[in-house]
Amino acid sequence: MSGTPDSLVVDQVTRDYPTAGEPLRVLRGVSLRMTPGDRVAVVGPSGSGKSTLLNILGTLDRPTTGSVRLGATDPFALGARELAAFRASRIGFVFQEHHLLGQCTALENVLLAPLARGRVDDAARNRAAALLERVGLTDRAGHLPSELSGGERQRVAIVRALMNEPSLLLADEPTGNLDAQSGRRVGDLFLELARESGAILVVVTHSAALAEQVGRSLRLEGGVLTDGTQ
Ligand code: ADP
Ligand code: MG
Repeated sequence: MSGTPDSLVVDQVTRDYPTAGEPLRVLRGVSLRMTPGDRVAVVGPSGSGKSTLLNILGTLDRPTTGSVRLGATDPFALGARELAAFRASRIGFVFQEHHLLGQCTALENVLLAPLARGRVDDAARNRAAALLERVGLTDRAGHLPSELSGGERQRVAIVRALMNEPSLLLADEPTGNLDAQSGRRVGDLFLELARESGAILVVVTHSAALAEQVGRSLRLEGGVLTDGTQ
C-alpha cells in the first residue's frame, strides 16, 4: 500500500531547551533536503544535538521554529492520534539501545510494528519471517531479548524498523554499543537492508567506517549542519 515515494524537506529548524537562565539553543537553523534512496551520516561531537535533530526528524520531538515535511505531510500540524499513526507507518527507528520489550520474543517485538498500525495479518507474519531470515535470526525468533547477544538484539531492532516499509529510516548510533567486529557486521547488514528498502536514511554515528560506507557525511557542530565530506 505504498504510495508516491516521500521526500524529506527540513527547513531552518531550531530547537531551544529552556534553562534557568537563557534558553539553550541546540539547533540553530538546520536545513536538509533528501529524496527517496538518499542516505546521509550525521557526525559531530557529543552534545552537539545529533539526537535532538534525529528525534525531530522522527517526530518524537518538535522544533522550536522551522519546519519538517515528509512527502506532502507536515507532521507537526497533525493531532496526536494522526501523528502517532503517521510515525508508525512512515518512520522506522533504530536506536543505540535496542528498546526491545523484554517480555516479548524477537518475533513478537518485530510484529509490534504492524500492530502499531492496527493489525498483524499473514502478510506481516511472512514479512517478519523473511526479514528475520535475512538477518540470520530464523532460529532465534522465539528467544527473549535477554537470550540474545547485543548484535542479535540490534538485528531484531533493524527488522522492526523496516517492517512497515518506512519512507524515512533513522538510526542513532546503531552500532554504538557493539564491539568492533559485531558493529561492522550489523552496520553492513543495516546499510544493505536500508538500501534495498529505498527509504531515505539518516544515521548518526561515531563510526568512521559506517559513515564512510554511507557515502555522504554532514557534520553537526555549533547548531548547524555543514558538509563533512572533505
Ligand atoms: P548528541 O546526540 O549530539 O550527543 P543531544 O541532542 O543529546 O546531543 O544533546 C544536545 C544538547 O542538548 C546537550 O547539551 C544536551 O545536554 C542538551 N539537551 C538534550 N536534551 C535536553 C533536554 N530534554 N533538556 C535540556 N537540555 C537537553
Ligand atoms: Mg546522541
